[in-house]
Amino acid sequence: MSRGTGEAMDFQKNDTVTVTIEDMDSDGQGIGKADGFTLFVKDAVVGDVVEARILKNKKTYAYAKTEKVLAPSPFRVEPKCPYHRQCGGCQIQALSYEKQLEFKQEKIRNNLIRIGGFSPEDVDACMEPILGMEHPFRYRNKAQHPVGRDREGRAIAGFYAGRTHTIVANTDCLLGAEENRQILEILLDHMDRYGISAYDERTGSGLVRHILIRKGFASGEIMVCLVLNKKVTKASCSRLRTDGFFQRQEEFLQRLSEIEGMTSVSVSINTEQTNVILGREIYTIWGQPTISDTIHVRDMSLPGCPFTGQKLEFSISPLSFYQVNPLQTEKLYSLALAYAGLTGRETVWDLYCGIGTISLFLAQKAKWVCGVEVIPQAIEDAKENAARNGITNASFFVGKAEEVLPGFYAGSAEVAAGEQMRHPDVIVVDPPRKGCDSACLATMLQMRPEKIVYISCDSATLARDLKVLCGGGEYKVEKVRGVDMFAQGVHVETCVLLSKLNVK
Ligand code: SAH
Repeated sequence: MSRGTGEAMDFQKNDTVTVTIEDMDSDGQGIGKADGFTLFVKDAVVGDVVEARILKNKKTYAYAKTEKVLAPSPFRVEPKCPYHRQCGGCQIQALSYEKQLEFKQEKIRNNLIRIGGFSPEDVDACMEPILGMEHPFRYRNKAQHPVGRDREGRAIAGFYAGRTHTIVANTDCLLGAEENRQILEILLDHMDRYGISAYDERTGSGLVRHILIRKGFASGEIMVCLVLNKKVTKASCSRLRTDGFFQRQEEFLQRLSEIEGMTSVSVSINTEQTNVILGREIYTIWGQPTISDTIHVRDMSLPGCPFTGQKLEFSISPLSFYQVNPLQTEKLYSLALAYAGLTGRETVWDLYCGIGTISLFLAQKAKWVCGVEVIPQAIEDAKENAARNGITNASFFVGKAEEVLPGFYAGSAEVAAGEQMRHPDVIVVDPPRKGCDSACLATMLQMRPEKIVYISCDSATLARDLKVLCGGGEYKVEKVRGVDMFAQGVHVETCVLLSKLNVK
């Protein structure tokens, strides 16, 4: 059944309806109205008129899916990737990049107003224009692909179709490095040629589960890690290293080594029935165990943001956390540093510090920096990275920010800059999507830093936390700026500067 928007609305599943898309929700779905009834329409962009099929009816609103674009939006572009609808990784690829940036700027603004409770005037007064990308494709330095077999039994690699574990074969994700395709094809060809099995998660059998590829964009170094479902004992390990973890391993490595930049090839052992991709045991089978990459800070105050002298080198293993969009990371870190406004005399906390990337940049301009991170391996990497870059004025703590910080404030930890760290000049936070724990926010307020720099990958939890930080009237939001790290997708990174008000 098909009908126009003028008729009485009691949609049934599979009805089709003509709808004009007036807005987009934070997940990138189009929003349109039909007689006061709100429709969330998949694969539609703002400005489109589409014929949509109802998927689910919820009384006052419904979910629908675009069947046909009747009149395309002026902001609609032809998606470059043939799989963008199935994949779900690039929710807004059909929107022009300029409009994507506008969408993200609005998303941040709306969350600050709706969730943060800030007035539109205040938000507009402190919001700076979002920092977009020059080239919004091929920006990811990391690719992770599940490996399986198609109906004809050929080896495939690709991605899981939205909300399922069915692999859609695609060896050329347009967000990833050019080399990925060649690497994947070598693997698949090798598996087919020598009958190497792919993992089947229903039965828990088969060898090759996933392939992880990382590239240092500044260094050009490439790492390949194959995740294998293979029991390895201490005794069998040395034999496997010479005989190979799979058939004709030498030949496979030979082909990979011909790719320019190939630096490290390893296998990761994962025999668990789990969605976690990498196993903890990693064996290097060719080249180095790690790759290196450089991050270079920019001068955000000058047009075109030229590089400054500040530069750091990091070593990355298959298990390390490392930002996936290196060019935008340089802008994000530069912005955070500019907001921190350090002169060399300050004491700084860097909470949720990962492998210490931001901490080490801060340390180059501060008296002392303390980093806090919950993953022990990341803290080991942070210490190693400090040594590698000759940085001696940073210390790192393993633990939850909401436990380490209150513990420190209460006086249970000793550190070089001692008492000054209890009342630091600056606190930088970069939490995961769920934002900061309330115990962490409460201690930050007690510590009374002059500045707080909040980096966030979810502007909804950011807005919630800013409401707490500013709620007591002691802090004010000075500046807010979006950085687009995930072009074609709906996520956006935000950096906020808060300053202490001089209240009596
Ligand atoms: N600032 C780093 C990492 C940011 S990602 C960078 O730019 O590279 C967020 C980090 O917070 C992750 O490394 C995660 O392991 C860590 N994390 C998550 N929950 C935490 C908690 N409660 N306390 C401290 N660190 C936490």
